[in-house]
Amino acid sequence: MLEQKRWTVLKVLQWTTDFFQRKGLKSPRLDAEVLLAHLLGVDRVGLYMNYDRPLREEELKAFREMVQRRTSGEPIAYITGQKEFWSLSFKVSPACLIPRPETEVLVEEALKAAKEAPLPLQILEIGTGCGAVAVALAKELPGAEIWATEKSPYALELAQQNVELHGVSGQVVLLEADLFPERGPFSLIVSNPPYVPTEEVLRLDPEVRDFEPLEALDGGPDGLLYFRRIASGARQYLRAGGWLVLEVGEGQDEGVQGILKEAGLSRIELRRDYSGVKRVVKGRLEG
Ligand code: GLN
Repeated sequence: MLEQKRWTVLKVLQWTTDFFQRKGLKSPRLDAEVLLAHLLGVDRVGLYMNYDRPLREEELKAFREMVQRRTSGEPIAYITGQKEFWSLSFKVSPACLIPRPETEVLVEEALKAAKEAPLPLQILEIGTGCGAVAVALAKELPGAEIWATEKSPYALELAQQNVELHGVSGQVVLLEADLFPERGPFSLIVSNPPYVPTEEVLRLDPEVRDFEPLEALDGGPDGLLYFRRIASGARQYLRAGGWLVLEVGEGQDEGVQGILKEAGLSRIELRRDYSGVKRVVKGRLEG
């Protein structure tokens, strides 16, 4: 594959698109463009402007490896080592879940809740992964102090890199902890915990199941384990008037609303994502 001479950008793109299509990938042209642009250090427009540029032997060799990883099902973001979220570029690796576009709705709801949360604005993010939500909140709320916990030391290391990359290390404190840190209370707690029911983990898309960290996905027998654990800490870790804002899986909104009510939260609100799925549940600890 890709052995002949004079492989130009255009030819490589055409060949790879065709190859990805035959291998059954869902967006063959886009995948080919993203990988080649990453390899050459340009954006996709940069590729179009360089259609006639021949690839050097080392470039072809490196690209062949990327193509092979992609056809084995590895997500694009792990191959390029980066993923865009909230219009910011984050470093990612198999140590963390790849930030999902629907999680931007969690950030939006956290920002709304922050407007009504007690001051000074002190925010806890539970299970930060690569740090995307914490960094997005820090960028949007320059006056806020943010603590973010993560139990995987490998993900935490990545989060630290992202915090530094985005210049918010003065604002975000990362802590290795299972869920809650040894501090608080907070004005706002936000989390996208693992919420896939254990049995369904095996039925996830192989690109997710075989490559992403299962401990970031597996939410116990009914998927609600972490919601119960987080909600049961709400009284201790939220200040009066503080908000708990949670991302939930499809069909979990009612169960999670019940859990928040039982934990003594009120003003329960729901928010759909852009595909219409009830994606965020939040509630307030009245003073
Ligand atoms: N939204 C993720 C998925 O569908 C699950 C994320 C999570 O468990 N928090 O793969």
